[in-house]
Amino acid sequence: MMTEANPRIVVIGAGIVGASIAYHLAGRGAQVTIIEKGAPAAGATAKSFAWINVSSALDVPYARLRDQALGEWHRLAAEIGPGLGLDWCGTVFATAEASKTEQRVDTHAAWGFDIRKLDRRQIEALEPGLVNPPPVGAIATGEGAIDPVAATVALVDGAQRAGAQLIPDGEVRGIDAPGNRVSAVELDDRQVPADIVVVAAGTQALALCAPLDVTVPIQSSPGLILRFETSGRLLNHVVVTSDMELRQVSDDQLLVGADYPDEAAGETVDGVARRVTSQIGTRLRGGETATLTSVEVGVRPMPSDGFPIVGFSAKVDGLYLAAMHSGVTLAPAIGRFAAMEIVDQTEVAALEDYRPGRF
Ligand SMILES: Cc1cc2nc3c(=O)[nH]c(=O)nc-3n(C[C@H](O)[C@H](O)[C@H](O)COP(=O)(O)OP(=O)(O)OC[C@H]3O[C@@H](n4cnc5c(N)ncnc54)[C@H](O)[C@@H]3O)c2cc1C
Repeated sequence: MMTEANPRIVVIGAGIVGASIAYHLAGRGAQVTIIEKGAPAAGATAKSFAWINVSSALDVPYARLRDQALGEWHRLAAEIGPGLGLDWCGTVFATAEASKTEQRVDTHAAWGFDIRKLDRRQIEALEPGLVNPPPVGAIATGEGAIDPVAATVALVDGAQRAGAQLIPDGEVRGIDAPGNRVSAVELDDRQVPADIVVVAAGTQALALCAPLDVTVPIQSSPGLILRFETSGRLLNHVVVTSDMELRQVSDDQLLVGADYPDEAAGETVDGVARRVTSQIGTRLRGGETATLTSVEVGVRPMPSDGFPIVGFSAKVDGLYLAAMHSGVTLAPAIGRFAAMEIVDQTEVAALEDYRPGRF
């Protein structure tokens, strides 16, 4: 916890999570240095599907945190303006298994979230581009998507305007913590002194913290992001099907998230790309003329229990961890709450289930 009057805070990583923490810390007048081994948004953030949602929450407290995060995106939109690339388009679930959709709706509606069932006619009215939609679907109107790179850059810019320093192309090789108290981070060519170190390094959190004997059980979970050029908009919402997620990012670009190939079963990235291209051609009206323009592998930072890891380490004084999947959804809430915990030396109740000490 922070004891110095104006501590030197180093944020390792300028993905969307580190960028948001730096933005909120700098906005509170803290002394912040962001160190990024590449450029802002160089990691998982650039290859995210970037759907902002409550409806994939695993339990009620997590759904509440995600719901708060959606509200925090509205706040950031008012603070930062259109540069975030926010699109509150809503989500249409069109999964083949009616029972799965019904279960999702029943659980989330019982938790008090805005999601309701659709019949086939209603799905067709909302998404006329879907060929042969399932008999049961759902809509979550309050959800949306973001441009994750634009948002990260806007947050880093905002942090810099509020006085934060950015060190790009600087890889942190180690965190110094003599006597279990952070004192500096090590770059190739220099040492940067620090009273607080925020590890927002995505999948790299594990390797950075292991020498301090701090466990951050983050797995690397790959996924595919495919981009298609389309003649006009084929879809109006984020659309979730049984085997992919789709959304129009502009009038002529469709983004598709698909599972990484099952290599054990002989699948390849090219094979999945061919399958998805063929599915776009048969399942979407106008999809037959869509052209695949890129296929990228993104690597999700996935905590071993699926929930975020956020807060001060109980082992090393001054070490604050922020590693999670769904970082695009959660970033504005995590950023504001982390800044409160660091600057105000308070514990935010919404984060209490996600402490690093649970492992
Ligand atoms: C295919 C895919 C689809 C996804 N879809 C969604 C979705 O729809 N909705 C959602 O909410 N989330 C989604 N996610 C997850 C989301 O993208 C991540 O949770 C989020 O981007 C994590 O952000 P981050 O800032 O923690 O990590 P990152 O974006 O990985 O940022 C970490 C940064 O730290 C830097 N770094 C690492 N080590 C060091 C070091 N030693 N020194 C200096 N810098 C370092 C990296 O270069 C990187 O820029 C998806 C992810 C993937 C891959």
